[in-house]
Amino acid sequence: MNEITVKIKKKSAQSYIKGYPLLTKEALVTMPDIEEGTILRLVDESNRFLAKGYHGNQNKGIGWILTYDEKQPLDEAFFTILFREAFVKRQVFFNDDTTTAFRIFNGEGDGLGGLTIDYYDGFLVLQWYSQGIYKWKSTLLAALKKAINTLGIYEKRRFDAKGQYLESDDFLEGHIAPEPLIVKENGINYAVYLNDGAMTGIFLDQRDVRKTICDTYAAGRTVLNTFSYTGAFSIAAAFGGAIHTTNVDVANRSIPKTREQFTVNKLDPAEHTIMAEDVFQYFKYANRKALAFGMVILDPPSFARTKKTTFSVAKDYGKLLEESIAITNPNGIIIASTNYAGYGMDKFKQVVQGAFKNQGREYKIVEQFTLPADFVTQSSFREGDYLKVLFLEVK
Ligand code: SAH
Repeated sequence: MNEITVKIKKKSAQSYIKGYPLLTKEALVTMPDIEEGTILRLVDESNRFLAKGYHGNQNKGIGWILTYDEKQPLDEAFFTILFREAFVKRQVFFNDDTTTAFRIFNGEGDGLGGLTIDYYDGFLVLQWYSQGIYKWKSTLLAALKKAINTLGIYEKRRFDAKGQYLESDDFLEGHIAPEPLIVKENGINYAVYLNDGAMTGIFLDQRDVRKTICDTYAAGRTVLNTFSYTGAFSIAAAFGGAIHTTNVDVANRSIPKTREQFTVNKLDPAEHTIMAEDVFQYFKYANRKALAFGMVILDPPSFARTKKTTFSVAKDYGKLLEESIAITNPNGIIIASTNYAGYGMDKFKQVVQGAFKNQGREYKIVEQFTLPADFVTQSSFREGDYLKVLFLEVK
């Protein structure tokens, strides 16, 4: 890869010295006209070396730092070590045969922003977040194969013009995974599809949330799972002794996918309600029928437009909570989750407080989650820990 030297503004140099991994346009004295993938050698305004990284455009920045050692070549051997170190950190997961799907490389958290790698029972799914990192593909694949044996490798390219997933055949090499591939998480089966669009069927970052639902909160409750996708939270709840689950997702595909998640666990989907419906329409229906639940789960996308509504976490999470509070039984649990980058945990808690105040109900936060241990993050980059989940006990 070509290498060029870029100058960092005086006021930004200090944050790179302290280990901030994301390169932003604002930090540069001038943005050179260069191809994505180019190696960037960062110097301060007095030409003192700061760090080396690469140029790749994501919505959050224009590249990532890779090393603070000027002499370190950014070659296959460098990345092999990075991968090996990351896999050592996941040893407890590799040793646990009740959980066979987890994240083995978490971008900047493991020293290389723009790439994540998930392990699905011997198969890998790589996610590339910029054109720039994708230019490094052959070096990175060679390094990866030195660091781990796999059954097969898939990729998701998440860098179209809007930073979204590019539709394609995602199979790269090795064996083709079964469809569905059945993975385990804390002993529960989940059907996943490695080559079926942007998502695989399970969000691995919610593992600890599913476990806590199952172990501590589900028993004896009726559950409303909104934005339910493949119903993964409901399966965990059913295993934990929930009486019944209602699964609401606007996408038609979620009906067969949710049925399948029950079936691969020898649970009868006919004992649960699974419907394709806009969540806000469902709230109206639930109010008309005076329905109430012992647990309501809210895990919306940060932004979604359906035929009937446009939802954005920034504008509408409070409303979503208020609708949920209205149909939660006394002593019921609301599980409020979001990935929205614009909210830190404190802001999210304020939104929760506002919604309960408007509804005139009291509550207590009984559990709080951020990313699980396999989604390694850096203390120098707190925004990398994007997940916020609160379990709220409604009085
Ligand atoms: N909670 C899920 C993941 C949710 S992904 C899990 O743990 O697996 C977000 C889902 O929200 C998608 O399946 C999408 O179809 C659905 N969705 C988006 N807008 C919606 C709306 N207005 N009503 C219902 N579902 C919606």
